[in-house]
Amino acid sequence: MPAVSRPAAPAAPSAAQKALQKMGLRRDIDLALHLPLRYEDETRITPLASARDGQTVQIEATVTACEVQLRPRRQLLVQVEDATGSCELRFFSFYPSHQKTMAVGNRLRIRGEVKGGFWGRQMLHPAFRLAGGELPAALTPVYPTTAGLPQPYLRRAVVSALGRVDLSDTLPPGVEPPHAMYQGQNGLQRSWGLREALTFLHHPTPDVALSTLEDHSHPAWQRLKAEELLAQQLSQHQSRRERDRLRAPVLRPQPAQDGALPLHEQLMAVLPFDLTAAQRRVGEEIAADLARRVPMHRLLQGDVGSGKTIVSALAACLAMDAGWQCALMAPTEILAEQHFAKMIGWLEPLLAARGRKVAWLVGRQKKKDRTVMLALVASGEAALVVGTHAVIQEQVQFKNLALAIIDEQHRFGVVQRLALRQKLAAHGMEPHMLMMSATPIPRTLAMSYYADLDVSVIDELPPGRTPIVTKLIADSRKDEVIERIGAQVEAGRQVYWVCPLIEESEALDLSNATATHADLSEALPGVMVGLLHSRMPTAEKKAVMQLFSSGQMGVLVSTTVIEVGVDVPNASLMVIEHAERFGLSQLHQLRGRVGRGAAASACVLLYSTNDSGRVGETAKERLRAMAETNDGFEIARRDLEIRGPGEFLGARQSGDALLRFADLATDTHLLEWARELAPLMLDKYPELAAKHVARWLGGKSDYLKA
Ligand code: ADP
Ligand code: MG
Repeated sequence: MPAVSRPAAPAAPSAAQKALQKMGLRRDIDLALHLPLRYEDETRITPLASARDGQTVQIEATVTACEVQLRPRRQLLVQVEDATGSCELRFFSFYPSHQKTMAVGNRLRIRGEVKGGFWGRQMLHPAFRLAGGELPAALTPVYPTTAGLPQPYLRRAVVSALGRVDLSDTLPPGVEPPHAMYQGQNGLQRSWGLREALTFLHHPTPDVALSTLEDHSHPAWQRLKAEELLAQQLSQHQSRRERDRLRAPVLRPQPAQDGALPLHEQLMAVLPFDLTAAQRRVGEEIAADLARRVPMHRLLQGDVGSGKTIVSALAACLAMDAGWQCALMAPTEILAEQHFAKMIGWLEPLLAARGRKVAWLVGRQKKKDRTVMLALVASGEAALVVGTHAVIQEQVQFKNLALAIIDEQHRFGVVQRLALRQKLAAHGMEPHMLMMSATPIPRTLAMSYYADLDVSVIDELPPGRTPIVTKLIADSRKDEVIERIGAQVEAGRQVYWVCPLIEESEALDLSNATATHADLSEALPGVMVGLLHSRMPTAEKKAVMQLFSSGQMGVLVSTTVIEVGVDVPNASLMVIEHAERFGLSQLHQLRGRVGRGAAASACVLLYSTNDSGRVGETAKERLRAMAETNDGFEIARRDLEIRGPGEFLGARQSGDALLRFADLATDTHLLEWARELAPLMLDKYPELAAKHVARWLGGKSDYLKA
């Protein structure tokens, strides 16, 4: 037989290896960046006499007694003593091997929380082993882990990954992040390198002030956070540069034809109001983008009710007038319909005069209708395509999509935005994108996640709005609120009642809403009380909305946030039950559903009180911001502090949390630093930049570009 050596078959991955994979700890760098949750101090032995009640300590002591007691329940009691005192160890679950290790006369190293004082020290289920061996020089890391992945295994995996991984500096020479300095041995200021910082964070020396590790203010943490933010900024700037090389249709106002005004001027002429100064300014910013050959990526921010829809409609006119198509997307069918009903009302006749149409695409649509719509879109006869996610599905072929408008952009994921960008690929171009959001994004967030986005802000409400008065009321006073509803309806006004949000259970949501609906119907005889929830058939939803919009229905009870995204100026009272379960920005958006007409409007935030009233107090504190301000930006800022960026980015993106270490609410200085450095680094040190991004973002960087 020829002596051919076969490569050894790869060993099947162990349970622990699988668990590592599952936690996303695949590359060495992933392990190196898997930082401890907390640390245990095993570097010193505490004499028993100086262990204080409640302190977690490591002791070394000799076993003087070890016995199993059966009453009041089976337990192992072990007496130990060192030169300074004694302690009782108590175990309710134990094995014969434990008893063997803790045999009388054995010397043990024990770690646990001491209870009691001089006369009766005790430890419940401490960790123990035979004494001996050197004490570690560094604190022992305790990592976030999962079932099947024991700490010791994870610790070894991290140590060996740290040994292998390339952590050479990727910052340009001479560049150092702020606050990452420490006093070096010779008294000189030195900056923490990446390797140094990571080694320290995994195995800090016992003299460290633990609080600086906990609150991430330690210079080693600063270094890490700065690097992370830099990676994110580099990738954003990179994608902006890539986009600058792409082409999009040039959309300029068309000259009047045969005496007919350009479409956007016709639309202006039929509007029953004048644009606010902010709307005009923002409209000009968008028009300037559309006239360029580079695809626009613009975020249009404006508080609820600030009039974003008409601004986007005017932009759409520019595209449609030049013979191109335009798509409008909203996250739900009801919202798509409500938001754009007016706009379609205005635009449809104008388009019809030019032989073009509006197409409607939603998920649940009759096959026949859908086929007709798809044909309209493909032929280009549909100048405007309105709908939900259905608009971006693969089967939807546009003739020439030039502008995509996405309402409530944070409810759409990256994947969907990427899909939209493909829709003009046949022309070798990308469509312009206008994203709208009524959840004002705090400046730090806009600067970071949206560095690749231009932002326009409508900072002015249309005239004639009455400010909304917000009240916090304990739910024990619900009856009074219901009375007030009666009075409002009596006066010819309409009322929204939003039911508690129970994230885990749609079924519970529903039963809650149904019960509330029944209660209100009973408490308000003679008033039409409607119910709207997400699992109702579309036709039924529409019928309910119709009754409410037309004013016949006095009270609308609704489950989810989205379904209330409507424009009924006669509605003047918004009641939100269990308001403490909503994010502040969500509450603000809901509140924006009233105060749209001339009547004085109010928003009642019902918060729950428990018996002790304590939970109620904290909830109330947080909700107080709502009563204090009507400024969406201020509310967004507080929301960022309280809830982190998830609220603004949508679950999908926050789930893939791109920032693991940095905190946008506190690390503004590092963000500023990274934002300034990124473009310089791309220009002067492209290799370092590429290496940095690959190290930090790996495969995720494409994902960031949408
Ligand atoms: P949002 O920014 O929340 O999407 P909308 O576009 O739905 O707000 O506008 C809210 C309401 O204000 C609509 O009824 C709209 O027709 C009206 N509106 C918009 N712009 C103006 C304006 N300049 N003057 C008066 N009303 C306006
Ligand atoms: Mg809107």
